[in-house]
Formats: sequence, structure tokens, C-alpha cells
Amino acid sequence: MDESQQRLAELLWPRNPPSRLIPCRHCRKKNRVSIPTAVLDSQSCRCGACGEALFLGRDEPLDGLASAAYEHALDRNSLKTLRSLPGFPALLRWILANVNERMFHLYAMSSTVACGDQQFPELVALLDLARTRLGITVRPAIFLGESPFMNAMTMGVKDPVIVVKAALLDQMDDQEVVAILAHEMGHLHADHILYQTMARLLFVIGSLRSAVVSAFSMPLQLALYKWARCAELTADRASLLGSRDLRACLQVHLKLAGGFRPGTNSRTRLKLGPFIEQARKLENAENSSRLDNLFMMLLTMNRSHPFATWRIMHLLQWVENGSFLDILAGNYARTPAPGEPVPSPS
Ligand SMILES: [Zn+2]
Ligand SMILES: [Zn+2]
Repeated sequence: MDESQQRLAELLWPRNPPSRLIPCRHCRKKNRVSIPTAVLDSQSCRCGACGEALFLGRDEPLDGLASAAYEHALDRNSLKTLRSLPGFPALLRWILANVNERMFHLYAMSSTVACGDQQFPELVALLDLARTRLGITVRPAIFLGESPFMNAMTMGVKDPVIVVKAALLDQMDDQEVVAILAHEMGHLHADHILYQTMARLLFVIGSLRSAVVSAFSMPLQLALYKWARCAELTADRASLLGSRDLRACLQVHLKLAGGFRPGTNSRTRLKLGPFIEQARKLENAENSSRLDNLFMMLLTMNRSHPFATWRIMHLLQWVENGSFLDILAGNYARTPAPGEPVPSPS
């Protein structure tokens, strides 16, 4: 590990760095690896028996990766409930594909800048990097839009579209942009778009301020928001798989929480260390106080996105339990080839 990786490892795991047994992709011999070293400098980890690299190279694609391989359990369970609503998903998919998707395309084409070979090819190249590492063959159209808010969004089922807001590109470096685009690709790959759109539509309906409409839409809206927050945790995992850069993923959350600060200089530059400490303190408070837990629930119930510190802790837990490294070592659920039976979800 170089000096900056070493500093990040000490920051994240100051005591008893976790380790994991990883079977070699080539000879199947199990190797015990230190999780900080393997996550931050995966290419230095080689099999003790055959000498081959234990993990995929930084740009090697995760061929055939199934979204189930990185889906957060909270996301999977909430989605199961939503999918069980009779007739609802089929109707929604039809509306989305035939009305909403077309409208979003028109919005993107008319009010934002379409990126491609001739226009901002650098952004397309970053998207390609994220998507090929994730083993995703679908290539969504990508647009650049104007907004003082740092944001990126994905719409569409048949012909997906990603819109990235300029403020985001102003504050993030290339690695962080790849992490964001991989997060968006994760939403597409895990089939989140349908219900995310529904949550947005219900938000608009809710803002009509009609007591009758709100009374009918509120329970569904809260259920969709709860799922949407869990879906973000799945997409955050895709962000790490597509960027293969934990520092970049954590920095994105720090910068999103700190807000857009044009003209950022050394005085206003944010540091990752104290922010990680802040996230850990919050996690301890929530774990030790039922009241804090309840307050957190009340604070988040009307939000479509979870708080930044919560996202950081969930991502680190996934890294610490070794699941990220298992995927990087080639041990992951794959989508069945055409004609193969679809495995039933566990
Ligand atoms: Zn080996
Ligand atoms: Zn998201």
C-alpha cells in the first residue's frame, strides 16, 4: 500500500483490521487476506500456492454479475413487498415505458446537453468505465444538465437515460464521478427505476396538498420511500464495484453532505477522517439508545434518500464482512445465460 492507502486503512480500521479467507480463482487454495490491504490495494494480493492475482484487475469486468450478488437485504425484502401488490408492477411498467420514459427523453433532449463522441466524450468514457467493470452491456444515453444542486438521476426501462448535473462535476474528481455513475448503473441493473419513478410521482401527488389524495397516497408513499432508501444501499455497493475505489465512494458521501461549495479552497476543504468518526459516533448512539433510534426513524421517513453517514456505515459493513472481496475474487451470483433456468430468489 502507498502512503495515502496506509493512512486510509488506519483511519477506517485503527484496531484489529479484519481478515477473510479467499479461495484462489485459479487453483482454489484458500488464502487469508487482510481486508484493508485487499480492499485498498487488491493487486498486491497473490495466491500463496500458485502466485496468481487473487482479485480481478481494476478494469476487469464482472462478467455476468447478477444484481442479487450485491443487493442489500433491506432492499430485497422491501421490494418483495412492493412486487406482491397485484397487477401494480405490470401497470406501472406499462405507464413508465409508454408515457413517463418518453417524457423524460423529451425533457433531457430539450433542456440538457446530450453527451457523445462529439460532445463531452470524457463523461461518456467515465460511464463506460463504470458500466464495463460492472459487466453491464446496456449503454444508457447520458446528458449534462444545469443545476446548483449536486445530483445525478436515471430514468427509463426500455431506453435508459442518465442526467448528471453540472454542480456534481464541479466538485468531484474523475474517480468520484465514476463512483456516482456506477451507483446510477446499479439502480438500472437492480431494476430500481420502476419504483423510484413511482416514488417521484407520488411525491408530486403528495405536494398537491389535497387532503383526500394525500390520505390515499400517504401509506404507499411511505412504503415506497422506505424501499427507496434501502435501494440506495444496493446502488452504493454497485458504486464500489464499478469504481473499485473505496476512498472515492466515501468522498462522494462527504461532498454530498457538505453541499456545493463553489470556489472550494484549503479553508473550506472537507476531511474524510472526522466525517468517518462522526458516522461511527452516530452509529453508536443509535445502537445504544432506543429514543435516538426512534428519532432517526422520524427524521428519515419522508426522505427518498438515506443520510450520508448511514450510507457510509452500511457500505463499510459490507466491505468488512468480506462480501465485496468475494465478488472481486470471482465468487458471485451470475445471471443465467439465455435458455438457462432462472434461480428462484432465496
Ligand atoms: Zn492459486
Ligand atoms: Zn441513488
